[in-house]
Amino acid sequence: MSSREQQVDVMFGVKSVLSQIEAAVARRSKNLPQVTPRLVAVSKIKPAPLIVEAYEAGIRDFGENYVNELVEKANDPLILEKCKDIKWHFIGHLQTNKINKLLGAPKLHMIQTVHSEKLADNLNKQWPKYRSSDEKLPVMVQINTSAEEAKNGIEPSEATKVAEHVLKKCPNLDFKGLMTIGIYDYDTSKGPNPDFLTLAKCRREVCDNLNLDINDVELSMGMSTDYQHAIELGATTVRVGSAVAKRFSSHPVRRSSKGNCYDSAK
Ligand SMILES: *Cc1c(COP(=O)(O)O)cnc(C)c1O
Repeated sequence: MSSREQQVDVMFGVKSVLSQIEAAVARRSKNLPQVTPRLVAVSKIKPAPLIVEAYEAGIRDFGENYVNELVEKANDPLILEKCKDIKWHFIGHLQTNKINKLLGAPKLHMIQTVHSEKLADNLNKQWPKYRSSDEKLPVMVQINTSAEEAKNGIEPSEATKVAEHVLKKCPNLDFKGLMTIGIYDYDTSKGPNPDFLTLAKCRREVCDNLNLDINDVELSMGMSTDYQHAIELGATTVRVGSAVAKRFSSHPVRRSSKGNCYDSAK
């Protein structure tokens, strides 16, 4: 695949996701904080040149769910050279023995998956080794809203306790909000996704109990199949992988001589 084709394809993915986000914002309940959602492009499995293409299409926030993969890409010479303002988000399961490796990654911006007070304590302790003392590490607390054993995260009932721990006991961490993965492929014809409602409820409780402004506490929820729905229910960060990239990885696009196949989408 030529780089020109890649650019067109990533451009298309980025543009269509951003316009879907805008449309979803317009449908969002007016009772929710009117924050412009942040698109985190999930770049797992995608090679560095495609990350550069997405960056050049305007994306700044990228998410990875394996420490080794994030660290490798964050140190990639092409990305270091071309993506000076890139912001890496860690969105996977963080094991204690990988903390130092992750914290050393250039342009690490946020860890969205703090799943215990112990992990928060460890991050709090290690972070000053990597950045100057006045720079806090932004974190979100991961909630297991679907109560699935295979998923990480604290129980919804513990949200206040863990958020309070981060706020009061972890001076090197900056509590940014709550994150959930939730069940896959929820059928929205059955009504609002209960995982998203649960995360929004956790935020209300955390804000009430800890006297925080709801506008300052993020909700990271929604992926390729449901990010519009998540935004309608209050997502301030969506993590979207395949919808940004689907045109270029496994399905090369065939073009007619009359121009490219995206003309109709403009
Ligand atoms: C892979 C992944 C995503 C993005 O999934 P898509 O379906 O490709 O949009 C979002 N969040 C997490 C935690 C992931 O691992």
